[in-house]
Amino acid sequence: MQEGKLIIFSAPSGSGKTTLVRHLLSVMPDKLQFSISATSRPKRGVELNGKDYHYLTVEEFKEKIKNNEFLEWEEVYAGTHYGTLRSEVERIWKEGKNVIFDIDVQGGLNLKHQFGDKALAVFVMPPSIKILEQRLNSRQTDSPESIALRVEKAEQELQTAKLFDCFILNEDLTTACKECERVVNEFLNKK
Ligand code: 5GP
Repeated sequence: MQEGKLIIFSAPSGSGKTTLVRHLLSVMPDKLQFSISATSRPKRGVELNGKDYHYLTVEEFKEKIKNNEFLEWEEVYAGTHYGTLRSEVERIWKEGKNVIFDIDVQGGLNLKHQFGDKALAVFVMPPSIKILEQRLNSRQTDSPESIALRVEKAEQELQTAKLFDCFILNEDLTTACKECERVVNEFLNKK
């Protein structure tokens, strides 16, 4: 199989990495395809099964762990699992494209560790914890408890930014989008 590259976007929840990943997919549809993760969390808002995530029960998720179907997985929040399926990377490489991931910081570093120079690990930095909290609140998709957990985790995750290949500050969205295009193109054009 022709192997492509991996573009990993990791960040604390609410940093805007999903928006940046969607932007890249819209401007580089011939080069990139999204790795649809599996999760045991319930569907949120307008999300669709098989598009945003593969939604599984905890039992189904654990069965896939047992069968070694994940490249990496994490219990990102207590009782809520997320994981990258091997089959996603294989499917996308088979189509001659590169895989782009929207995953948590631990998962991102795990993949970078496995794939080395084939992977570009990008950390998306929120302007501040305060702004991150405001963004999570205005999204109106998470409970106050869930937001509190995400903010607490974000504070720890910010400490890991230095372990990534590069970071992008998401203060002004247009600027961040352009910067993403630049780093991804540079990486993909590298032999
Ligand atoms: P959300 O519930 O907001 O969709 O995602 C929560 C966190 O889990 C986000 O940081 C998201 O990027 C991360 N996530 C999504 N898919 C995966 C995955 O396959 N593996 C890991 N480790 N984290 C993931």
